[in-house]
Amino acid sequence: MQKWMIRENTPTLTKKHWIMKKNIEQKLLSKNTNPTSMRILVYDFLEQQQTAMSLSEIESHFYKADRVTIYRTLKTFEEKGIVHSIQENTTVKYILCHDGCDENTHKDWHLHFYCKICKQTTCKEDFIIPQNGSQNYRIDELKLFGKGICENCIKESLQ
Ligand SMILES: [Zn+2]
Ligand SMILES: [Zn+2]
Ligand SMILES: [Zn+2]
Repeated sequence: MQKWMIRENTPTLTKKHWIMKKNIEQKLLSKNTNPTSMRILVYDFLEQQQTAMSLSEIESHFYKADRVTIYRTLKTFEEKGIVHSIQENTTVKYILCHDGCDENTHKDWHLHFYCKICKQTTCKEDFIIPQNGSQNYRIDELKLFGKGICENCIKESLQ
């Protein structure tokens, strides 16, 4: 991180933003993705989210960008192992992947959990799909989807 330190007299916000931008650029480059300004903005937004976001939710955050551009950005991110998508009835939601995913494989073999109360979808990484030892076949896609009540809503219902 030392590398991105800049002059003391730069306003804090700008400095913070600049470091953030550099970090995202590095992240995108490490996934073989050209860091265009749109991609940096979408990545920055997704990084701040605790839950999966639909295209409409992402779109409403960027009032100046059009839906097609955001959609293309998400599709590129998905191809490059930056985000994974979760299909929910008629909606697709997107959430960032870990470093283990790349353009060849996604390794998001965990439960995706939809809360019936707050309607948020989250990754439950303590719930991982068991791996088999067989090398006779290759799984490219595997989905595990659950519905219920999330930890926050359970806590609230007990109060
Ligand atoms: Zn992934
Ligand atoms: Zn909930
Ligand atoms: Zn996930």
